[in-house]
Amino acid sequence: AVIMTRKTVVLYPSLGVGHLNPMVELAKLFLRRGLAVVIAVVNPPDKDAVSADAVARLASASPAITFRLLPVPSCGKKHYSHSVLRTIDALRAANATLLEFLRTLPVVDALVVDMFCVDALDVAAELAIPAYFFFASAVGDLAIMLHLPYYYPTAPSSFKDMGETVLNFPGVPPIRALDMSTTMLDRESDIAKERLRQYTRMPEARGFLTNSFDWLESRALDALRHGLCTPGRSTPPVYCIGPLVLPGQTAGSAGGRHACLEWLDAQPERIVVFLCFGSLGTFSAAQLGEVARGLQKSGHRFLWVVRNPPEQKDESVEPALPEGFLEKTADRGFVVKNWAPQAEVLQHRAVGAFVTHCGWNSVLEGIVSGVPMICWPLYAEQRMNKVHVVEEMKVGVAVEGYEDEIVKAEEVEAKVRLVMGSEEGNKLRQRLPVAKKMAADALKEAGSSDVAFEEFLRDLEKCSSEIQKK
Ligand code: UDP
Repeated sequence: AVIMTRKTVVLYPSLGVGHLNPMVELAKLFLRRGLAVVIAVVNPPDKDAVSADAVARLASASPAITFRLLPVPSCGKKHYSHSVLRTIDALRAANATLLEFLRTLPVVDALVVDMFCVDALDVAAELAIPAYFFFASAVGDLAIMLHLPYYYPTAPSSFKDMGETVLNFPGVPPIRALDMSTTMLDRESDIAKERLRQYTRMPEARGFLTNSFDWLESRALDALRHGLCTPGRSTPPVYCIGPLVLPGQTAGSAGGRHACLEWLDAQPERIVVFLCFGSLGTFSAAQLGEVARGLQKSGHRFLWVVRNPPEQKDESVEPALPEGFLEKTADRGFVVKNWAPQAEVLQHRAVGAFVTHCGWNSVLEGIVSGVPMICWPLYAEQRMNKVHVVEEMKVGVAVEGYEDEIVKAEEVEAKVRLVMGSEEGNKLRQRLPVAKKMAADALKEAGSSDVAFEEFLRDLEKCSSEIQKK
């Protein structure tokens, strides 16, 4: 008799909530199609890992997904020239544990790994199971990253020394060297060498699942699908299955509704400027001051998530802001310390603009909520995302001077006024509802992302039959 086992997929995120959250959303897609999903979460005892508590919370919110913590040794006191190297090292050290864990499962039909878990390709190869990437950034970023090994080694110099020089990569708008990923700026650095090694290996995967949708990034997709990004080598298929974003939290979840949402309830429609800079973004006290003055001068209502400058350890954020700012803006501003329920805030009808650091999850949350963006990239690949958002997707504008020491109050004021009021802002306000609808359509039955996921599942099916034949 043939014993039918449910297809099982193991998802393998990188460290950090920003990588785990979209994986959880991906897991839900698999569940909806009747597959079993295990999320294996590497859990080194270091501060940048997702805590066991956080995983337990996610697990209780999604009981159908199996979470499995993979304990790995700490990288200890070893010195790393870049924090991402520490992450990559921890993930590499986790290979043995991952292998052991996968061997305990009765069946694994595929391993789906995060963009940083490139070394896990070895584990999949060892077990002869297909490996796919879940690439949780822009397709445009994937196009650039896959092409970098063909360009960077022979470039005139490191990006950091090329400044305003415009680079042309297939499928994406011209991009200034200074807007490339922060990890890639110095060609001689260990992190750039390591990432380049990873980019070179990425096409070994059987395919890429990307958290985007065809309409949003059709040019980058075309470039990838026509093999333009990896000349002389085939590019694995790219399945655009997004946008997968956190659902706006359900009311009544732990701790009740956040006070900023209550405040938004009392505001008119599409009138509030929301400022939030990802899970890590911080500013100096001087920069916070410029933002505060800019907001004040703009006269617009705002909801601002403020984190203290790294050097300032106060409990309250008040000392970091200009004196009297909170009182003077009390009638039209709301300041939240450290963390706001961003996805839910963006979906609130009162929000009219989003000042964002351009982390990819934030960009997608802005798009699915139909909120125009003011881009203020800070780290990682956010400057590249800014280029995609402004030049390609045309769903935002950028603040000038983000690459310098400081963005002036006048610039903050000008961009807020532009997006909330001007002719150009009007164009954005017309474009965003279109992008929002296209995002929703992509996910519907027979929409582009739904079809792409079906195609991916067919490929998985094909793998299984190939393996059985062997
Ligand atoms: N986020 C949030 N509240 C905050 C800051 C961030 O809910 O105050 C969420 C945000 O909605 C997004 C994620 O954290 O889902 C940040 O991911 P993103 O890729 O935008 O940036 P990263 O933090 O990885 O740089």
